Amino acid sequence: MDYKQYITVVPDFPKEGIKFKDITTLMENGEVYKKAIDEMADFAKEKEIDVVVGPEARGFVVGCPIAYALGVGFVPVRKAGKLPREVIEIDYGLEYGKDSLNLHKDSIKPGQKVLITDDLLATGGTIEATIQMVEKLGGVVAGIVFMIELSYLDGRDKLKQYDVFSLMTY
Ligand code: 5GP
Repeated sequence: MDYKQYITVVPDFPKEGIKFKDITTLMENGEVYKKAIDEMADFAKEKEIDVVVGPEARGFVVGCPIAYALGVGFVPVRKAGKLPREVIEIDYGLEYGKDSLNLHKDSIKPGQKVLITDDLLATGGTIEATIQMVEKLGGVVAGIVFMIELSYLDGRDKLKQYDVFSLMTY
């Protein structure tokens, strides 16, 4: 399946010079969205995943249906101040900016096999921060899956020691 035909490339969003990959046009098509999620879930099928972890907000639209397909739980990574209970926090750099991410302290048990998901890999800052929090809690990152990888930003260099799958590469 040529998933790229369902992605809209939006020039100069959210800043001049950025060619934003809009996944909402893929999600609007139920058949294609399901196929994409199923293919991403297939990558993780043999990995005996205990829990899926994904950063807000587009990591949820990819991670939640993958968790459902695998029959496991989903743990949200959120921006600072959004999670109601005790959290661990980490600062990270974005393709366009800086922020800090939170994860509930009791959301991952030591030794649990974790699948990390997001819509898109750019510089890898978001996923690197997510990995660091998961590993700090004792989780084992068994795989990382993206809908889109921007290979020209070399995010994969930060993920060399992990099993990574991307549905589409630009
Ligand atoms: P990174 O941390 O790898 O530099 O950036 C990835 C994060 O930024 C992801 O969480 C993703 O949602 C968001 N992001 C950056 N560029 C794009 C883009 O072109 N399209 C979409 N959908 N998300 C993007």
